[in-house]
Amino acid sequence: MTATLIDGKAFAATVRGKVAEHVARLKNDHGITPGLAVVLVGEDPASQVYVRSKGKMTVEVGMHSYEYKLDAATEEADLLALIDKLNNDPEVHGILVQLPLPKHLDEDLVINSIDPAKDVDGFHISNVGLLGTGQKSMVPCTPLGCLMMLRDHHGSLSGMDAVVIGRSNIVGKPMAQLLLGDSCTVTIAHSRTKDLPDVVKRADIVVAAVGRPEMVPGDWIKPGATVIDVGINRIDAPEKGEGKTRLVGDCHFDSCAEVAGAITPVPGGVGPMTIACLLANTVTACCRANGLAEPE
Ligand code: NDP
Repeated sequence: MTATLIDGKAFAATVRGKVAEHVARLKNDHGITPGLAVVLVGEDPASQVYVRSKGKMTVEVGMHSYEYKLDAATEEADLLALIDKLNNDPEVHGILVQLPLPKHLDEDLVINSIDPAKDVDGFHISNVGLLGTGQKSMVPCTPLGCLMMLRDHHGSLSGMDAVVIGRSNIVGKPMAQLLLGDSCTVTIAHSRTKDLPDVVKRADIVVAAVGRPEMVPGDWIKPGATVIDVGINRIDAPEKGEGKTRLVGDCHFDSCAEVAGAITPVPGGVGPMTIACLLANTVTACCRANGLAEPE
């Protein structure tokens, strides 16, 4: 491996440490404890794992964690009533509705019913618009974590060629906005993109957010480029024993690491940064709600 490993796990621990310091100051100086409410509807196993780990880390940094686990058959009106209650609760500074929601619930309606000031996932249409127009907003956690790692590694990103593979509302599009905001020349690639290997080969920065195990091989990568692998894919791992699985990204790690200048691993890259940014966003929301200085 020739690439520098961008250690998201270690970086996330540093971010959480800063969040914990800020939370302690809010408590000591202002008697305020930031609170994060997480709403889970149904029993999707991956979502249950995410919600558990979000709750645990929220408490670890000294914040209040409020978890709402609702039945998969919950009616939309009941979910909206809960969100309304949380919107009006001064102890709750951040609200996250874990996605995906069961099919009978209108995801856009639900997300847009969250008070934008408490929308720590940054998915509310107001926050999307604010981000797109370069105004102060709540920034989606996964792309924010990617941007922080890129800035930390490169300093300025100005003028760099960036290719984002994937155009979802939760990763690809906001990632592209953030890179544009940092003056990259940005291309968004997707399933209809022609000559994807050639498009990727131009990039100084590749962000892969596709959901296809090891889709990007090393020979698509420009030598020295930085590869941020957002993908989390579980694949069979017969080498570990019968029925065993392992996590891989959207990039083929070993071949990409031979060519890239820097690369994030999966696991231990983007994933931990996502939760750290969620906690940071909650502190930011709490500071804004109370007219206090925001963390940097
Ligand atoms: P979506 O399924 O919403 O979007 C996937 C995108 O990839 C789409 O825009 C799709 O294009 C594009 N795509 C699919 N196939 C190809 C292809 N063959 N070539 C080029 N583009 C393709 O996924 P998400 O954005 O929600 O998530 C992407 C990955 O990131 C997943 O593995 C997910 O688990 C992971 N993830 C990780 C997080 C973390 O914390 N680390 C957080 C969120 C997601 P089109 O629009 O044309 O269909």
